[in-house]
Amino acid sequence: RYRDAKCKLCRRESTKLFLKGDRCYSNKCAIERREFPPGQHGRRRKGKPSKYFTQLREKQKIRRMYGLLEAQFHNYFEKAAQQKGITGTALLQMLERRLDNVVYRMGFCSSRATARQLIRHNHFQVNGRKVNIPSYLVSPGDRVGPREKSKSLVMVKEAVEKRRRTEMQTWLDFDDKKLEGRLNQIPSRENIPVPIQEQLIVELYSK
Ligand code: SF4
Repeated sequence: RYRDAKCKLCRRESTKLFLKGDRCYSNKCAIERREFPPGQHGRRRKGKPSKYFTQLREKQKIRRMYGLLEAQFHNYFEKAAQQKGITGTALLQMLERRLDNVVYRMGFCSSRATARQLIRHNHFQVNGRKVNIPSYLVSPGDRVGPREKSKSLVMVKEAVEKRRRTEMQTWLDFDDKKLEGRLNQIPSRENIPVPIQEQLIVELYSK
């Protein structure tokens, strides 16, 4: 499990991975202040990156964005490779369907890490039944929301209030009264807002 500073991961990838909720949108974001890789030689690394380097960075970027360990991520890739269609798209669709990601996308939390913790602590339900597995894959038609006793959590209330000011993904519906969202369809690649070239990951794992 990674226990070091999360902002170092963003700086390593030279991309905002949005791992720390509200702080990522403020001027305290480390990428805004130190836009070079961490470490003693961070500023010195130069030269044309190799193909392998580019592929590896792309894979690390997405793995870190969704907060997965290497083995978990590789399992998702293997499952995606067995599906019909474009492997890279199938991979992203599976990652987006994870319960922690859906909770985050619905605006119940400001980061996937917070979503994962709340799910683990039994605060969320799917179709009215408690689910405490962050990797649970949400299917089209499934209803996701906090359990009755958790609707009053300050963290959830604040996040939902902020969500009202932003636009919801088109593949998700949200009922403000019930404080519950629904996955209306599997998202297409255009509707998955991650700045990733997934083809590079497929090439990396296909070697
Ligand atoms: Fe990344 Fe957020 Fe840290 Fe900025 S504040 S470097 S986006 S984790």
